[in-house]
Amino acid sequence: MTEATVIDGKAFAAALRERIGVAAAGFAAQTGRRPGLAVVLVGEDPASQVYVGAKGKACEAAGMASFEHRLPADTSEAALLSLVERLNNDPEVDGILVQLPLPSGLNEQAIIAAINPDKDVDGFHVINAGRLAVGQRGFVPCTPLGCLMLLKDHLGDLSGLEAVVIGRSNIVGKPMAQLLTDANATVTIAHSRTKNLPDVVRRADIVVAAVGRPEMVRGDWIKPGATVIDVGINRLPPEEGKEKGRLVGDVAYGEACAVAGAITPVPGGVGPMTIAVLLRNTLVAAHHNAGMPAPEGL
Ligand code: NDP
Repeated sequence: MTEATVIDGKAFAAALRERIGVAAAGFAAQTGRRPGLAVVLVGEDPASQVYVGAKGKACEAAGMASFEHRLPADTSEAALLSLVERLNNDPEVDGILVQLPLPSGLNEQAIIAAINPDKDVDGFHVINAGRLAVGQRGFVPCTPLGCLMLLKDHLGDLSGLEAVVIGRSNIVGKPMAQLLTDANATVTIAHSRTKNLPDVVRRADIVVAAVGRPEMVRGDWIKPGATVIDVGINRLPPEEGKEKGRLVGDVAYGEACAVAGAITPVPGGVGPMTIAVLLRNTLVAAHHNAGMPAPEGL
């Protein structure tokens, strides 16, 4: 039996980050300033701290300015809104990202709604969701855009392919389905109420799993030769004698490898794309804010 091709998101993301670095240097040479991303972290959530640190480092590595704002967990909504307003008006800041989840008591929707949509590089603002829905230019959430890039790189034209997206969250499933529809795939969105999920998935030439359940999608759900994009990041309980459990996706990787045509691994598949696309969106925002056309080929 042939094994699936492994779609190397890490390598793709590294190449993308390199192109972004070149374009960021060009931007700085033309404008006299680096593209800038402000990242706001409220509270001490350990995973969020890791993500925010990684985003800051990635910015600096790509020749962009990173402005980190770490606020205590008891920050009031008024104080957070006032920081967002300050960043909206700061000409050095092209992109604003408020790391989610926010501590309870802070209204995430209200905070995201306060971000200038043209600086909303996460693509979570309702204006950007609307722009995506009606096919206008706007910011698209980083993870699904990264998945689309990997799919197009591997498959080329997606026209007429059957795609099944498992998960309908606002940050992954829904925008993913929209992007695949815009790329002329025939799209089904599955979720926790979907009946006969294995049969639905068996129809798919493209499977995108964004569920948050370790190894839920089994090998015998996959149509032979299908392309599988595994968005899930799940940590298993630690094995005996180990401090940390293994990271696995939403797809049973070994089983799926024996059937699929191609598959993203976890880690090293979709994960690295998310930060690379965040940098890409920030670079695009910088060009728009400077009244310059966005660079091609990103
Ligand atoms: P959410 O929890 O917001 O959404 C999960 C979706 O999965 C929901 O639509 C839910 O359905 C659906 N679902 C849950 N259980 C089942 C089931 N048994 N059968 C079918 N569908 C089911 O998660 P996110 O979209 O935020 O994230 C999904 C996964 O992707 C997580 O593992 C997360 O860690 C990972 N992730 C990875 C990123 C990366 O950079 N690689 C970035 C973002 C997320 P319903 O709507 O009916 O409840």
